[in-house]
Amino acid sequence: MSQDYYETLGVSRQATPEEIKKAYRKLARSLHPDVNPDPDAQERFKSVTVAYEVLSDPEKRSLYDRGGDPMGHAGGGGFGSGFTFSDIMDAFFGGQGTQRGPRGRARRGNDALIRISVDLAEAAFGTTRELKVDTAVVCERCHGQGSADGAEPVACHTCRGSGEVQHVQRSFLGDIRTARPCPTCAGYGTVITNPCEECGGDGRVRSRRTLTIKVPHGVDSGTRIQLAGEGEVGPGGGPAADLYVEVEVEPHQVFTRRKDDLHCDVRVPMTAAALGTQVVLPTLEADTGVEGDDASLTFDIAAGTQSGESITLRGRGVPHLRGVGRGDLVVRVVVETPTKLDEAQRDLLTQLAQARGEERVEAEFAAPHRGVFTRLRDAFR
Ligand SMILES: [Zn+2]
Ligand SMILES: [Zn+2]
Repeated sequence: MSQDYYETLGVSRQATPEEIKKAYRKLARSLHPDVNPDPDAQERFKSVTVAYEVLSDPEKRSLYDRGGDPMGHAGGGGFGSGFTFSDIMDAFFGGQGTQRGPRGRARRGNDALIRISVDLAEAAFGTTRELKVDTAVVCERCHGQGSADGAEPVACHTCRGSGEVQHVQRSFLGDIRTARPCPTCAGYGTVITNPCEECGGDGRVRSRRTLTIKVPHGVDSGTRIQLAGEGEVGPGGGPAADLYVEVEVEPHQVFTRRKDDLHCDVRVPMTAAALGTQVVLPTLEADTGVEGDDASLTFDIAAGTQSGESITLRGRGVPHLRGVGRGDLVVRVVVETPTKLDEAQRDLLTQLAQARGEERVEAEFAAPHRGVFTRLRDAFR
């Protein structure tokens, strides 16, 4: 043994694994051939990496501490034996490393997302939908086990049950070993010798199901409804995933939604706005087919209401999602000026204009300062 691994890394013999990793990372960053082209640095990088290889592995470190040579039985492999590329990447990027060893055959399925479109009334008051879902279900023939005869999976010959194969790559460091999932067993470490004919060993088959989905009141575009366990089942009899249904709300001809408030415009004739009136308005509820009181709303428009003024009807908006109460209905009044006047009507309006001294009007600026400004000006007149 030509070097003292502790000395090479510049750590004490009592150094913790964390201190060893830290020391290596620091050295490797300054000595790595990509940042330091000096041939001496390259040699030192190799030494440092070998030291780290030994001291980062509890078994090798303990052997080394007892005077053994962990690199001596590497079958002449020299540098890089048993040291995988991911360890070096970890040293540089501080990753947690990839999970090693065979992976379980039974895994949870993947979550799925379906989008549905509902109209505004359905979104506001809730509805149900029948959905056809194409998904994976447990294979009934093998009950998800994947084996035709019920036999247990046997250890894979290619990887001897480890689930991964080593790939050796030549590089500036010497040989670098990369672990890859075993192609024979797909990383399971075991193979099913006599796979089920129905599912080919996967333990599940595709199936089309019909689901009835309850869309709660108050949903909006982007709301996701989670149906736990209604997604695909996992391979090897693994648990079922969740199905998510994302709602898209179609625009409405009359009502616009802002959060849980509904907004709409109503047109009233000039005379009604001046004299005051009562208006009957069909509600959003009417879209759901309800009749009677809920299907319409009666409210007053006060005498002298200006075009653009809003009337807020509390609690007549969209019901809150997962809660009680509702948003408001905001009705904006649009005052209509009469366009087609017959002789008699024109006479009446002319008389009105004369009575109000409005035959000739001066242009006045309207909003936003009109209120204060005109009042001030009137006060000085
Ligand atoms: Zn099967
Ligand atoms: Zn294998």
